[in-house]
Amino acid sequence: MARFSDAIVEHFTHPKNVGEVPDPDAAAFVADPVCGDQVRLTARVVDGRVGEARVLAHGCAAMLGTASIVTEWIVGMRRGDLRGLDEAAVSRRVGGLAPGQSHCARLAVDVLHALAESWQRTSQGNST
Ligand SMILES: [Zn+2]
Repeated sequence: MARFSDAIVEHFTHPKNVGEVPDPDAAAFVADPVCGDQVRLTARVVDGRVGEARVLAHGCAAMLGTASIVTEWIVGMRRGDLRGLDEAAVSRRVGGLAPGQSHCARLAVDVLHALAESWQRTSQGNST
């Protein structure tokens, strides 16, 4: 298992926050057409920050581990924090990704940025 960081092994073996937040304030779905990995991320927003996040992920072990780590990582973040995340930040957070796993960081960034956009639409709708 040397290909995987300790954090990814831990989260792949014991995934956190699996499922969907009911009636989420933000939701996003991304899929990688090449490897088939799919990630659906939903979140509840509390006082302008991510209060809870849940994920449904299908794909390789690194993707499942990364998705689980993300659900814990983004709690407490503001929308702008999500927008500021990039592949390097994700890779560092999960303890490093092998070259064949770099698509996991890309998909994670894609779904996080999509979540931020969904969140913005929701907050505009509720801006009364
Ligand atoms: Zn994959």
